[in-house]
Amino acid sequence: MLSIKGLRANVGDKEILHGLDLEIGAGEIHAIMGPNGSGKSTLAHVLSGRDGYTVTAGSAELNGVNLLALEPEQRAHLGLFLAFQYPVELPGVNNTYFLKAALNAIRRARGESEYDAVAFMRLMKEKLRVLHLDESLLKRPVNFGFSGGEKKRNEIFQMALLEPKLAILDETDSGLDIDALRIVADGVNACRSPERSMMVVTHYQRLLDYIQPDYVHVLAHGQIIRSGGKELALELEERGYGWIEQVTEVAA
Ligand code: ADP
Ligand code: MG
Ligand code: MG
Repeated sequence: MLSIKGLRANVGDKEILHGLDLEIGAGEIHAIMGPNGSGKSTLAHVLSGRDGYTVTAGSAELNGVNLLALEPEQRAHLGLFLAFQYPVELPGVNNTYFLKAALNAIRRARGESEYDAVAFMRLMKEKLRVLHLDESLLKRPVNFGFSGGEKKRNEIFQMALLEPKLAILDETDSGLDIDALRIVADGVNACRSPERSMMVVTHYQRLLDYIQPDYVHVLAHGQIIRSGGKELALELEERGYGWIEQVTEVAA
């Protein structure tokens, strides 16, 4: 599904990703953990094609297609979805309008027929029901005036509607209280499917009590320095990230 090899990327002239390798298979959930500033968001942004990052070496393929050669929209059409750590607010744009436009753009790109208003409303209501979200979400401007928790829920709602092949959730848990965390985690679990892979970026183990990952990776100083099963997240919770400095000093 996703195959990253030797990925190096800069912000400005500073290298942040120093040769990163990661393989994510179909239907798998991989958690990316690591200290603040280790490059987790950079990885998510580079994969989504956000401006301001320069890839200097390595490759990233989604189902054999070179992601790095594509525009952000083309990556989305291919089935890549990124839920941002800080979701953008679009004050003048109605959420329903925005989601319908996004979904129909993807359907057109895939050669599928567009949803009309009735079919789209039916789909939205179904997803709201599955995710236990309130219908009022639809009538508001995109993320504008939303609380932190509402923004994160709206990101999960977008993910559910767009049915991506690979979803990247960048610290979707940050700033959430325990109830909002559960709603987000339940939403993610409802989106689990054998055809959908997920990369869940999180600083804390807490979210992984509710979203059981198949694999856990530690990203530090722009590289994956350890990989394991979900027990690795518990070990990190106990040990913190202090040990990483010793490991990377030995490696350096
Ligand atoms: P994480 O998500 O793991 O906390 P980031 O990917 O946000 O880490 O940041 C990795 C490093 O890249 C940090 O040292 C950060 O200061 C730097 N960085 C990220 N984005 C920018 C930017 N736009 N301009 C300058 N430095 C940046
Ligand atoms: Mg951070
Ligand atoms: Mg980050």
